[in-house]
Amino acid sequence: SEQTYDVVVIGAGGAGFSAALEAGEAGKSVVILEKMPTVGGNTLISGGEMNAPNNWVQQALGITDDSAELFYEDTMKGGDNLGQPEIVKILSEKALGSAEWLRDVVKVEFLPDHLFQFGGHSRKRALIPVGHTGAELITKLKTKAEGLGITIKTNMKAEELLTDDSGRVVGVEASTNGQKVTFHANNGVIIASGGFGSNIEMRKQYNPELDESYMSTDTPGTTGDGIIMAQAINADITNMENIQTYPICNPITGVISLVADSRFDGAILINQGGTRFVEELERRDVISKAILAQEGGYAYQFWNQEIADIGKTIEVHQDEYEQLIKEGMLYKADTIEDAANFFKVDVQTLKETVSKVNEYAKTGKDLDYNHRGGLVSLEKGPYYIQKAVPSVHHTMGGLVIDTKARVLTTEGKVIPGLYAAGEVTGVVHGANRLGGNAISDIITFGRIAGQEVAK
Ligand code: ADP
Repeated sequence: SEQTYDVVVIGAGGAGFSAALEAGEAGKSVVILEKMPTVGGNTLISGGEMNAPNNWVQQALGITDDSAELFYEDTMKGGDNLGQPEIVKILSEKALGSAEWLRDVVKVEFLPDHLFQFGGHSRKRALIPVGHTGAELITKLKTKAEGLGITIKTNMKAEELLTDDSGRVVGVEASTNGQKVTFHANNGVIIASGGFGSNIEMRKQYNPELDESYMSTDTPGTTGDGIIMAQAINADITNMENIQTYPICNPITGVISLVADSRFDGAILINQGGTRFVEELERRDVISKAILAQEGGYAYQFWNQEIADIGKTIEVHQDEYEQLIKEGMLYKADTIEDAANFFKVDVQTLKETVSKVNEYAKTGKDLDYNHRGGLVSLEKGPYYIQKAVPSVHHTMGGLVIDTKARVLTTEGKVIPGLYAAGEVTGVVHGANRLGGNAISDIITFGRIAGQEVAK
């Protein structure tokens, strides 16, 4: 069958919805194609936190020394300066506007009085949606899209980009239950199909290290389809070898641990021997490497009730907490001995580690790893100890876009009618994406793609 819309969006994650909403607001008819039975992609299962310098929660908390420039510097440095400066500049300048758009137009609710300081950030600047997951974002984006009359087709897999004689992208060949469907696009096509973390062959093709020995935090739909489809019409790719593992994941399933977000409130990381081995707010790639270098290739996160009460990560992720307890991957203990014994960690060493942390918390100076958020006292129990391994999380590489989210060819020319945004692109995060930067990226460039395609 054949259908015609002004704009065809591939992928119903955060980038795809943001693009669709902007095109829809501009009066265009829009369809979103989603290959999975449900919408949301990795955005849905993420923590949903979003960095925005100078945001309203910072103001409420008295954090007045953040700026777009600092956010830019953190992001560039965090990616080993491999992000494209003019693209990162847009991200840093527009992130706040994107957050306000989510709040005011999409009606996303953020916590009014709590922020995370993710690894690599020099300021506490990550807004936290209620529930601490991307569900708040996706639910509200979907509601808004439906309100605008945007068509969402699930179980609809985009397979090929259609071009006319001039090379302009004019549609998408898709399939649903083995049935071919052609979508014609009057204005253009936006690729927002996410990364390739769930495609082991593709991971190995670009970085043999990230083979089947790694699990993944990603949804099964994250297979790089958009990259492959665009490459077939000569789109350029970059940064493909840079594949990020998330350091703190479930050792049985590979699923990201959001309970362990207590790390951003002061939880420490220790090895089997009971000692710290890395700064807990280091970049993800650094922490992952450090964990893999420890005995057994795993680590434990250790914190107390006082830290748990700051972010309430156990309450907000109660299902995950119970699952981890059941699997024997997390244990609540009255004493340090009890916690150590559960995982056969050296008791004496852990006690020594904890008394050093307590001292550093008091003096405000972590003499071992220079914790940038400041350590928190672990004097009082009860305690939590959680076993963790790194798991493939974000693929930094992907399509090359310009500042208007237009996809470029291997010769650096614009492909007319083709836009891309979100994890499918490869120019934002360089060698390593900082925590909380994915949502800022996908909303910002999703919106730009939607605005540009509607022009
Ligand atoms: P982003 O964070 O960039 O928005 P997500 O992972 O949140 O990325 O969303 C990408 C979405 O695209 C996922 O829901 C995924 O299932 C979907 N997707 C991937 N490949 C295709 C395809 N070939 N056709 C349609 N949808 C796709």
